[in-house]
Amino acid sequence: MAFENFEVWFVTGAQLLYGGDAVIAVDGHSNEMVKGLNESGNLPVKIVYKGTVNSAEEVTRTLKAANNEPRCIGVIAWMHTFSPAKMWIHGLQELRKPLLHFHTQYNKEIPWETMDMDFMNLNQSAHGDREFGHIVTRMRKPRKVVVGHWQDTEAQAKIAVWMRVAAAWADAQDMRIVRFGDQMNNVAVTDGDKVEAELRLGYHVDYYPIADLVAVQREVTDAEIDALVSEYEKAYDVADDCKAGGKFYGQVRNAAREEIALRRFLDAKGAKAFTTNFDDLAGVDQLPGLACQRLMAEGYGFGAEGDWKTAALYRTMWFMGQGLPRGCSFLEDYTLNFDGKKSAILQAHMLEVCPLIAEHKPKLEVHPLGIGGKNDPARLVFTSKQGAGVAATIVDLGNRFRLIVNEVECIKSKKLPKLPVASALWIPQPDFATGAAAWILAGGTHHTSFSYDLTAEYLEDFAEIAGIEMVVIDKNTTIPEFKKELRMNEVYYLLNKALC
Ligand code: MN
Repeated sequence: MAFENFEVWFVTGAQLLYGGDAVIAVDGHSNEMVKGLNESGNLPVKIVYKGTVNSAEEVTRTLKAANNEPRCIGVIAWMHTFSPAKMWIHGLQELRKPLLHFHTQYNKEIPWETMDMDFMNLNQSAHGDREFGHIVTRMRKPRKVVVGHWQDTEAQAKIAVWMRVAAAWADAQDMRIVRFGDQMNNVAVTDGDKVEAELRLGYHVDYYPIADLVAVQREVTDAEIDALVSEYEKAYDVADDCKAGGKFYGQVRNAAREEIALRRFLDAKGAKAFTTNFDDLAGVDQLPGLACQRLMAEGYGFGAEGDWKTAALYRTMWFMGQGLPRGCSFLEDYTLNFDGKKSAILQAHMLEVCPLIAEHKPKLEVHPLGIGGKNDPARLVFTSKQGAGVAATIVDLGNRFRLIVNEVECIKSKKLPKLPVASALWIPQPDFATGAAAWILAGGTHHTSFSYDLTAEYLEDFAEIAGIEMVVIDKNTTIPEFKKELRMNEVYYLLNKALC
């Protein structure tokens, strides 16, 4: 349901050389394939077949129309017959939507006994798709290439990944990020070029004084707070001292007031993500912890200490993963646990960890917080699920953005009776020492956007569409090869900039 307002266009390349009957057959096959793909149940976004294109004029007209259709989040191209690729040049120059080249074939197996030259003239994707691929490469046009029979579930899964990413890309193109306060003073890694971020990624970053939020907060009614607190009581285990009559009940109500005000403010501004800063809380009762946790679970991007890049990336990754079961969160590398092969990094934050990654029902608690000089904040306390996930960040290297992705393995965490925050415990791949060293060499942040449901493939598709650098740290990473990749990328992106 999350993607029901989107569609992906399917365009079949052909030409008129083989006569009108061939084009009619191509059209029939394409219709059947699109119907089959839509009925597979494996694709999150509906495919709309836009017919065969048999000339430069038809290609250009179709791809321009894709640009202008807001529902269309991307184009799948497939060459049923040989489609001379010069006729694609002008259309591809125009196309601004994500492109997927599906190297498939109508028939699954060769009909050895009956195959004749008419069959060959009709079923030419084996070489037609190479002709098309050549011009896309020659034009340096980003795209995903998926190879496989259209009924094959592995090929469909790759298309599904790209669809989710294309939808998140569309979502990012009008993403407004609201920052209350600036970056935490002196912090480098979370900062970056906001103009370039809008040009390159679509992210629009705005600033609002916390006083504007305080004004909205003043309008929140007691009845609204009553309703939200009773929602908390249903959704979470509530600590005894946080229940009505308990010494922290008032703090829970103040947290609810902040949540209502924040949601109202963001919705009024059309914002999909936000950041806070614990140094900029004048007029606010407590650092919003519970509010940030719950808003993240609803899909609002969040970054702490003014970290708008992580806020935006969280929103993007949440958007990709809608409907998938295991969840995502903003996290921070908190502290290290050296323990041989089980060496791991505790992931947490002062308060703001998304309950979508919880392995059990979160507990609502109030405790003092040494930082920020405000009242004791409410927060949800839990430990995360176990299993594989990806941690990602975008850093600004001065001349470009770099997306860094680390596959991680979440392991069983231990209780933290004196540190009542939500947390995860993970081993970076391929192992703690290599993974952490590679992350540091790549210039990665201490803040990440983390997901159990996504894989590096999603982020690869995202980087391809955005045209930004991506480095992956996974089970195959070695430090010498990784350093070589970083050095070579340095040259590649310098040259690439010069070519642009
Ligand atoms: Mn932080």
